[in-house]
Amino acid sequence: MSQRIWSDMDCIFCKIIKGEIPSQRVYEDDKLIAFKDIHPAAPTHILFVPKKHYATLNDVPAGDTIMSDITAAIQKTVKKLGLAERGYRIVTNVNREGGQIVFHLHVHMLGGRALEEKMG
Ligand code: AMP
Ligand code: ZN
Repeated sequence: MSQRIWSDMDCIFCKIIKGEIPSQRVYEDDKLIAFKDIHPAAPTHILFVPKKHYATLNDVPAGDTIMSDITAAIQKTVKKLGLAERGYRIVTNVNREGGQIVFHLHVHMLGGRALEEKMG
């Protein structure tokens, strides 16, 4: 069972952001980083991760622009990778039934092959 992390003290993605754990970064700006998923589920599998620690999507305050910042970063990245027109999928898992394992908000971007139609 995964354990919910309430602070960034032991958070693996906070450690990646601080450079304490290596990652294959593909994008960075002042608000977020993007790096390759260590267990890719598609030829291209990138995680977009806010530099600020939010455990889940539920914890993003109303009016916070992080999800639109992530959208802008995804748009730039898929264009650079030649996936914008081909297509791709973005997913955010939330809490237990959503299948969240790492409790630092992140958006998966999957692409590079035709993905299954099913969502669940
Ligand atoms: P989830 O919390 O279910 O959205 O999934 C977390 C994702 O983080 C999984 O796809 C993992 O493969 C990925 N992941 C976990 N640790 C690392 C790491 N050190 N570097 C890159 N990806 C990771
Ligand atoms: Zn964190």
